[in-house]
Amino acid sequence: MQGGIQLYLFADYHTHSQYSHGRGDLEGNIRTARARGLEELAITDHGPALAFNLGVRRAEELLEIKGKIGRLQEKYPEVRVLAGVEANVINSNGDLDVPGEILDQLDIVLAGLHPNIFPRTFENFRLLALYWGGKLSGYLGQRSRLFNTRALVNAVERYPIAIVTHPGLKLAVDTRELARACAACGTALEINSSHGYLTAAFVSVAAAEGVKFAINSDAHHPWAVGDLGPGLAVARQAGLTAAEIINARELPPRGFPTSPGL
Ligand SMILES: [Zn+2]
Ligand SMILES: [Zn+2]
Repeated sequence: MQGGIQLYLFADYHTHSQYSHGRGDLEGNIRTARARGLEELAITDHGPALAFNLGVRRAEELLEIKGKIGRLQEKYPEVRVLAGVEANVINSNGDLDVPGEILDQLDIVLAGLHPNIFPRTFENFRLLALYWGGKLSGYLGQRSRLFNTRALVNAVERYPIAIVTHPGLKLAVDTRELARACAACGTALEINSSHGYLTAAFVSVAAAEGVKFAINSDAHHPWAVGDLGPGLAVARQAGLTAAEIINARELPPRGFPTSPGL
């Protein structure tokens, strides 16, 4: 247990804008981050593989967003804004739906599995078939879990992924195996504040493998940027320390002098 330690979250590394599934413009996200006193914010719109135009239309659009963020950064110097992506892992090889030369130009890369990708290849189709089949059959559910785990492990081993988004959401994974691979690659697992599915038990099992975590909002509206309370509650329940959370710092205990003379 961590007793009375107060955790302070200084960044939100997973937010969307109107470029993908989100409702607000880039500036709206930045303004909320500033109002909430965040030091860092990442804009991480969905990669292009999501069906129904929920992602960016072309991967190159991520660089256009980066250009706009650069211009907004001059207007809002108080918040460091990172241009990123929430890429889709699209097959069991761990391929992402964003080419490496574009990933290299972004400030932060997040990646995750989504059951609403547009099936373009047999492997995409397999991911989806196992997802739907797994709802009906225990055997297919187990196959789906193996497929998903292999896909994510391959992705973190092949790409510079900072954070795996919402692990285990809708698409089950082997927590221990994924956490082990992420720990070895320096990739954090996300405690997602929007979806509310992740339990303290999952976090504890993963933490035992030495992996770090990121607590993010996954905001799809500017007003939800920095809304990290639900994720923080799970982290506290699991007894995580600031050293295990990449966007957390420990606050000094109450009454502790914060600067000379106080
Ligand atoms: Zn997602
Ligand atoms: Zn997201």
